[in-house]
Amino acid sequence: MKKYQADVCVVAAGLSGLAASIAAAEQGLKVVTLEKNKVTGGAASMGMGPLAVGSRLQRMKGVNLTADEAFLKHMHYAHWMADARLVYDYYRKTGDTIDWLEDMGIEVIFTGGTLYTPTRMRAFAQPEQTGHLIAPPPGQKPGPRCAATMTRKMTERMQELGCELLLETPGKKVIMKDGKAAGVMGVDANGEEVEVECKAVILACGGYGDNPKMIKETLDYNWGEDLFSFRIPGNVGDGLRMAWECGAAKSKMMMELMYQIPDNLNHFDLEGAFRQPLLWVNKLGERFVPEDCIGNTATMGNCILNQPGRTCFTIMDSDTLKYYKKKGVDFPGVQGEEVFDHFDEAAEAAKEEGYKYYFEADTIEELCEKTGIKLKGLQETLEEYNADCDLGRDTVFNKDYHFMRPVRKGPFYALQSFIGAYGTLGGVKVDRKFRAINEDWEPIPGLYSVGTDCCNIYGDTYPFVLPGNTMAFCLNSGRMAGEYVAEYINE
Ligand SMILES: Cc1cc2nc3c(=O)[nH]c(=O)nc-3n(C[C@H](O)[C@H](O)[C@H](O)COP(=O)(O)OP(=O)(O)OC[C@H]3O[C@@H](n4cnc5c(N)ncnc54)[C@H](O)[C@@H]3O)c2cc1C
Repeated sequence: MKKYQADVCVVAAGLSGLAASIAAAEQGLKVVTLEKNKVTGGAASMGMGPLAVGSRLQRMKGVNLTADEAFLKHMHYAHWMADARLVYDYYRKTGDTIDWLEDMGIEVIFTGGTLYTPTRMRAFAQPEQTGHLIAPPPGQKPGPRCAATMTRKMTERMQELGCELLLETPGKKVIMKDGKAAGVMGVDANGEEVEVECKAVILACGGYGDNPKMIKETLDYNWGEDLFSFRIPGNVGDGLRMAWECGAAKSKMMMELMYQIPDNLNHFDLEGAFRQPLLWVNKLGERFVPEDCIGNTATMGNCILNQPGRTCFTIMDSDTLKYYKKKGVDFPGVQGEEVFDHFDEAAEAAKEEGYKYYFEADTIEELCEKTGIKLKGLQETLEEYNADCDLGRDTVFNKDYHFMRPVRKGPFYALQSFIGAYGTLGGVKVDRKFRAINEDWEPIPGLYSVGTDCCNIYGDTYPFVLPGNTMAFCLNSGRMAGEYVAEYINE
């Protein structure tokens, strides 16, 4: 058995684990970090960037949003179903955390933009300018995976600070002594046991998005059938299990739903092309949402959850495709404005690959046959919808008339979407200092949980009103726990 000694053992080097390791080391603590995978970064390496309020970059652009305003907006949106003190502390930390990243040499971009929201949605939830992007490597455009430059730099920073990083060494069990967390047992790539003796443990294992069985048991979603969420290899719920074994109470578990097509990163342009206020129908062929509200992927995830088979189809005809190719998109999403320039290539690639969720058909009958949409339902919908398009008014949902384009002329094109998510949220109950707490709400001395393992701040729906929240919570909860651990140890 290999033995290590440390003040703190951080289990996992995803985003929250990296932040915790750096913050603890900056407090002068000796840190050993165990990471299951060959590489650090976890889900964060696939993302674009975190939220912040009051960063230097925002101040330079004259964004006046305060932590108080963001906090209240967040809590109202979450219907106060979150620990208000923890959320308040979190928002107050976020601006400074951007400066903290910049001090590590991480380049952060703040464009000042928000997600485009049509007028009718704005009345409900105007997004704030909180999203910060991590600059990609030189020569590349900001987009998915650009945050990998951040996790890389953070890994370098933790090592500069003297943290010992053990890759391919999953944590297996927290050692408890006299009711306190006192170490971690793990196993290295050769199967040899590893023991880290320490005074505090921070669990940061990224939830259980890669564990379909646990998802089914806790949330009743069926991965690969009605759920196509991202799966980060190894995020199977170890942080939750280890904390529960030490007596930590369970907290609400959920997924921050959004909508997604299967294997979306490989069909990125295709997905972007259909993320437009086109005709959206469920399996019955019925409309179920005013399509100018599809820009908020989180609330749209909720809509799809309530449809038969938890799925839906976006349909356009050849005239609309021609229109978009000429004029460009109505909604520029993360896929960008130019997705229709690449539509033919993307559609061809999907067909060649035999991608099951993209459809082309010469007639509505053929489309229904291929998709499984009920023909009678779709025919009735089209009669009503096309008449409304001619009228220039959506008599069903009052969708913005600019987006009322008939579905009349074949060939017809459709893409099938499902519910998706970044991963799971919650599981370990924590207090505002990210200490794991037991059923009596007493902290378990020396045991901390951060990142998605403990994230219970969104109520029932991810707040796109304050974009970048998931990554920011992981980053800041890790950083804050690293600092609180020092308080605990120094006491
Ligand atoms: C495609 C994608 C894009 C995203 N884009 C954004 C975005 O732009 N903005 C945003 O706010 N959020 C975004 N997110 C969400 C955000 O990246 C995650 O919520 C965040 O990274 C989670 O941090 P974490 O530390 O909890 O988990 P992760 O970063 O996933 O880290 C978990 C780590 O735990 C390790 N691990 C698991 N079990 C063990 C064990 N037993 N022992 C040791 N190590 C273990 C894993 O290997 C992994 O490295 C995105 C997510 C995805 C999937």
